[in-house]
Amino acid sequence: MADYDVDLFVVGAGSGGVRAARIAAGHGARVMVAEEYRVGGTCVIRGCVPKKLLVYAARYSDDFEDAAGYGWAVEEPVFDWRKLIANKDREIARLELAYTTALERAGVELVKSRAVLEDPHTVRITGTGNTVRCRYILISTGAAPWQGPEIPGIEHAISSNEAFHLEELPKRILIQGGGYIAVEFAGIFNGLGSEVTLVYRGENILRGFDDDLRAHLNAEMTMRGIRIVCGKTVHAVRPTQDAFAATLSDGSTVEVDKVMFAMGRWPNVVGLGLEAAGVHFTHNRGIAVDPMSRTSAPHIYAVGDVTNRVNLTPVAIREGHAFADTVFGGKPTAVDHANVPTAVFSEPEVGVIGLTEAQACAQLPKVDIYKTSFRPMKMSLAGRDTRAFFKLVVDGETDRVVGCHIVGPDAAEMVQLVGIAVKMKATKADLDTVMAVHPTAAEELVTLREKALSYRREAAE
Ligand SMILES: Cc1cc2nc3c(=O)[nH]c(=O)nc-3n(C[C@H](O)[C@H](O)[C@H](O)COP(=O)(O)OP(=O)(O)OC[C@H]3O[C@@H](n4cnc5c(N)ncnc54)[C@H](O)[C@@H]3O)c2cc1C
Repeated sequence: MADYDVDLFVVGAGSGGVRAARIAAGHGARVMVAEEYRVGGTCVIRGCVPKKLLVYAARYSDDFEDAAGYGWAVEEPVFDWRKLIANKDREIARLELAYTTALERAGVELVKSRAVLEDPHTVRITGTGNTVRCRYILISTGAAPWQGPEIPGIEHAISSNEAFHLEELPKRILIQGGGYIAVEFAGIFNGLGSEVTLVYRGENILRGFDDDLRAHLNAEMTMRGIRIVCGKTVHAVRPTQDAFAATLSDGSTVEVDKVMFAMGRWPNVVGLGLEAAGVHFTHNRGIAVDPMSRTSAPHIYAVGDVTNRVNLTPVAIREGHAFADTVFGGKPTAVDHANVPTAVFSEPEVGVIGLTEAQACAQLPKVDIYKTSFRPMKMSLAGRDTRAFFKLVVDGETDRVVGCHIVGPDAAEMVQLVGIAVKMKATKADLDTVMAVHPTAAEELVTLREKALSYRREAAE
């Protein structure tokens, strides 16, 4: 294709873009990638990875406390926030370099600049003003924190981006939001010793998750000292002498050292020149794509958070890989977005896959529910008052397990494996044939015998 400078131009070197670029180059395509911030994208630089490192740090506080019940005498532990952040930054820099090297080794040309579409086949590198003629373009620009409606003092509220770089650990923090990022940061700051207030406008945290799970997690987080305020919003943030006063919708005021908003994320589509290129959008601000991630402009594709489908790293990676196989590998591949296992790294942890009880009841004529709640064995000598929660949602007609919801230590690790069974269409009877691994928490998944609930929808006359 002599007309084009490159076969593929990838806008955004995050989870989806990096995978797509590498695989496309492996298929023989000439690939260029532009990245305006740091290679690796949200997940590596200011998402999953640094978040999980902070979660690990926060969990040590429980470990120090619990060790006493197991005979250990631990001196008063001292936590150093700056040291944690410096160590975390070093690890993120190492990963960024690894991603950059992987691109270079694959023969991908990396441009450290913002890129925008000038016309349907031309990308402009804003840093240099150079233009590149492209046979195909992949938009993988991800998403950015949405700070909510304009309220007085909104400029004082940080997002998750800044939370990773605070100079000091705030003694008191208010987090507005009820999604997984808000809940995870509430657990992080609580574990590290901050006084945490979580403010959420809805009736309970983690909208969209199973109702029993939400209630269980709310109770557990509350027991850990997190103040969860539902049904309210922050109306204003006002600096005081050395802190901030957040006014809530009921007129009450919460005085804190930091205010963080984690109210959702919006796809990065503004100012990219997409409209002029003939790219259409969905009702939820994402780029509209078909099952092959192709936009309304036939040679422009989009993957990852910018499409606002399932906003998770492994999904973005899978979509990027499938795109490259489809367009450059001669292997058309659609990504299956059903039954994506996912975790919330709250304290305690959450792992889920499939339908909630409410969703199953809305979709299936017969639903059986199995559930249990118990104190994990490790907590006995530790003397910690916390309970794990397991729930299986089963299709009452086929006996297939259509949902699994776990709260408790290692829930994320467990649900990854449950995901295999669910994808293989395992039935409840299949789980029952599996011998328990004893003593574990996961054995509950194969020893749940009694139906807790059984729904039967009457057939219409
Ligand atoms: C705090 C937090 C925690 C998270 N935790 C998890 C988790 O535990 N597990 C999980 O699966 N997911 C998690 N996620 C979500 C995950 O990070 C995203 O789903 C994933 O990064 C999406 O990948 P992507 O390729 O679509 O976009 P991104 O990884 O966001 O990459 C997009 C890239 O494009 C660049 N860019 C944007 N516009 C331009 C432009 N015009 N020119 C050049 N470059 C541009 C951006 O700088 C960015 O590097 C988390 C997200 C956040 C914010």
